[in-house]
Amino acid sequence: MCSSCGVSNAVILQRHSGRLLCSKCFMEDIRSRVLGEVRKYDMFRPNDRLLLAVSGGKDSFVLFDIISGIHESGRLGVITVSEGIEGYSREEDIAWVLSRSRELGIDCIKTSFRDVVGHDLKDLVSMSVKSDLNVSPCTFCGMIRRRIVNKYARELGYDKVVTAHNLDDESQTAFINLLRGDLNRLLQSHPRGPKLSELFVRRVKPLRKVYEWECALYAYLNGFKFQEVECPYIVSRPTLRAKVREYLYRLEAVRPGTLLRFLNFVDELMINYTGNVDILPHLPTCKVCGEPTAYNRSICKTCELLTKVGVLK
Ligand SMILES: [Zn+2]
Ligand SMILES: [Zn+2]
Repeated sequence: MCSSCGVSNAVILQRHSGRLLCSKCFMEDIRSRVLGEVRKYDMFRPNDRLLLAVSGGKDSFVLFDIISGIHESGRLGVITVSEGIEGYSREEDIAWVLSRSRELGIDCIKTSFRDVVGHDLKDLVSMSVKSDLNVSPCTFCGMIRRRIVNKYARELGYDKVVTAHNLDDESQTAFINLLRGDLNRLLQSHPRGPKLSELFVRRVKPLRKVYEWECALYAYLNGFKFQEVECPYIVSRPTLRAKVREYLYRLEAVRPGTLLRFLNFVDELMINYTGNVDILPHLPTCKVCGEPTAYNRSICKTCELLTKVGVLK
C-alpha cells in the first residue's frame, strides 16, 4: 500500500525517504519537490521569460514536463544545441521537445556548434589533437554550449536560463569544489549565487534536489522512451569527477539520502555568503569576443582555445 495516499498499490521504494509509493504519488512528490526548490530559492517568478536548455535526455523531459505545466507558454522558450559528435545524434531525442513545444506554442531555437562556431565538436577535437593541445572534448563542449545558450538568452531578452542538472550532477560538482577548496565556484553554483557579469543571464536548476534515478523513473512512467546513448567522449571525462561520482554512489548505497542531505547542507551553509556581493567583483570582458572572462584574463578561455586550434585567426 502507498505510504502517501494509502489507497493505491505501492510500486516504488523511495530509499532516501524510506517510503513506498504508488506511481501517482511518486510523480506528485517529484513535482512538489521541484516547486519547493523553485520557491525556496526564488529561482523564477510568473512574469519571467524562461529559456529551457534541453538536450533530449530523461532529465530534459522531466524539466520540460514540470516547467511547462506551471509556467505560461508565452513566457517559455526552448533551446537545443547539437554538438556534432560522430555516432551520437540527438535528432531523435529532441523530436519530442520540438513537437510538444509546437503544440503548446512555445518558441524553439534549434542551433548547433557548426552554426555558431563554424565547426562540429568532432572537428574541434581533431583540430585540437593536431595542434597538440591537451584539451578534453568535455571542456570544449561545456564551454561552447554555455556560451551559445547564454548569448541566445541575452539577445532574445530571456530573464533566466533553466537547465536540467539533477542531484547526482550537482552533488558531484559541490563535492569537487569542496575538495578543490574553490569557494568562488561553490558560491557560483548556489541557486542564489552572485551574478558575475551583466552579460550573464542567470542560470537556474530546478531539478537540483531530484535523484537521477527519480528523473529516469518519472520519464519512464510518463511514457517517455529514451535510448540514452552515452556520449562517446564520456571516457575522456575528467577523472576526478568519475572518482567522486563512484564514491558518492557507494555512500548513497549504504546510507540512502546521503546526496540529498549533502547538497541541502551545502546550500544552507552557503546561503550566508550569497548576500555579500562585495566578495566577488564583476568579471572583465574578453578583448576578442566581448564576452565575460576570468578575473586574470584579457582574452577568454574559449577564444584562446579557438585561436590555438586555428578556428580564430
Ligand atoms: Zn499513492
Ligand atoms: Zn573571447
